[in-house]
Amino acid sequence: MTVQTTGDRTDPVEGRVLVVEDNEINRTVIVRMLKKLGYECDVAHDGREGLETWRAHGHNLIMMDCEMPVMSGYEAATAIRAEQGEEGGPLIVATTAYVSNEHRDRCVAAGMDVFVAKPVTLAKLREALTRCEALAAERAAGGGKETDSSFGLVAS
Ligand SMILES: [Mg+2]
Repeated sequence: MTVQTTGDRTDPVEGRVLVVEDNEINRTVIVRMLKKLGYECDVAHDGREGLETWRAHGHNLIMMDCEMPVMSGYEAATAIRAEQGEEGGPLIVATTAYVSNEHRDRCVAAGMDVFVAKPVTLAKLREALTRCEALAAERAAGGGKETDSSFGLVAS
């Protein structure tokens, strides 16, 4: 994969989005929609590749599929949260076909910020990014770590 880190990393939703998704069709669709919304993307094909790409380039916004081979999105997000610095890590948007509370709790436990039920649509993606902007603003205002109450569910 090729990565061009030209984005301004001080704004979590500026610059390039890292899309971690094992399904080629889903990946293509998500990248296409993000481009439509004005974001440039880099892609990774499983959690391990996503983790390594984040380590190398420090994306501030990650779309993370939960169910992937090699390393799941839950594991990758957990690893990122364990490695991120004091200044806080990326915003992580979980994408999953499962909408149960159990899966949502698992996303929260893994440190993911926003939860999008598949299939991902342009409307859901737009809402998820709006929530990310709100979370980023909260953090910038010194809101500290997000809590369960701010965990966004974009399921409709
Ligand atoms: Mg998958």
